[in-house]
Amino acid sequence: MKPLFIVISAPSGAGKTTICDMLLQSYPELSYSVSCTTRQPRLHEEDGIDYHFHPKESFERMIKENSFLEYAEVHDNFYGTLKEPVYDVLTHHQSMLLDIDVEGAEQVREHIKNLPDGDLLKEGFVDIFISPPDLEELKDRLMGRATDTMDVIEKRLKNAEAEMQRSGEYMYQIVNDDLDTAFKKLCDIINYKADLL
Ligand code: 5GP
Repeated sequence: MKPLFIVISAPSGAGKTTICDMLLQSYPELSYSVSCTTRQPRLHEEDGIDYHFHPKESFERMIKENSFLEYAEVHDNFYGTLKEPVYDVLTHHQSMLLDIDVEGAEQVREHIKNLPDGDLLKEGFVDIFISPPDLEELKDRLMGRATDTMDVIEKRLKNAEAEMQRSGEYMYQIVNDDLDTAFKKLCDIINYKADLL
């Protein structure tokens, strides 16, 4: 089977991490793209598993070396996807899952546009936006998570609103008002795309 290149975006608190974890369990052939970030690790986060944590200088060096497929500044920190691991996984006929913000997703689309037909990234590409039911619910979820300060939560809410306005840029949109239903919709999209390849 040809590999899928799946990009998922969602405002933080929309349930994306849970849905992505469910997806990775249901599709063992799917690899998760571990992003680089300059953000500080949260409690229980592990370097190399949740993110590759980098100081700003080393992130900037990788930008200069053109190592990123995409990168963006989100909530005052840098996040980016390295090119090499993505191509490594796809050329080994394994599918890849990216969990990135709207800015990064736009860069990936731009990158893909310039690739020749038949390129692995282009052939298997599908992008999906997951929304929370509404901003009030999102605020409750972010506050319930209790990992961030009120200041950070406010910033994330503002960012969420802006991101949700760009959901139309994605091939598919899913509203996560019920986890099982949202997950089923995501699986339907992925199975449909896989059947087309
Ligand atoms: P968090 O700090 O909550 O882990 O992530 C914050 C935001 O950064 C999320 O919207 C997440 O999708 C985004 N993000 C994580 N990794 C990347 C990446 O490699 N590139 C881009 N552009 N955004 C990312």
